[in-house]
Amino acid sequence: MTSFDPLTRQWTYSVTYNVSYAEDTPFFHALGKNKLLGSECRKCNYRWATPRTVCMTCGGKTEWFELPLAGRVHSWTTCHFSGEPYLAECPFHLGLIEFDGVDTLFMTRLAGMEKPRIGMPVRAQFRRKKTWSVNDVYFVAADVS
Ligand SMILES: [Zn+2]
Repeated sequence: MTSFDPLTRQWTYSVTYNVSYAEDTPFFHALGKNKLLGSECRKCNYRWATPRTVCMTCGGKTEWFELPLAGRVHSWTTCHFSGEPYLAECPFHLGLIEFDGVDTLFMTRLAGMEKPRIGMPVRAQFRRKKTWSVNDVYFVAADVS
């Protein structure tokens, strides 16, 4: 036998991962209570809209603070492809949210908007059935009830 067609086959592969959020755990517990937490440096007062245990500006320790649940769209994009858990939802909008008094942006999904606008007022919504992931929060137009 000098040549042959390679034999191929397919099967579904499933793996269960155990994930630890370690020092970011308070952020996820807050999501479970429909709150968003940011991190503030005790030394230089820089404020992140995301979990940080150490200040990337000065190296100081940070502490948690409650983010406002309303902000504005800083920028956004439409995702036409995604990782497997969200493929069925494509296309969807991903946005960077800016908050008053916070130095960085929060990346999240924008829901219920045909076409978001930069500067558009938005507010947080939380999933009723928690997944204990960043997908437990998404933002909608501020004027939607
Ligand atoms: Zn600092």
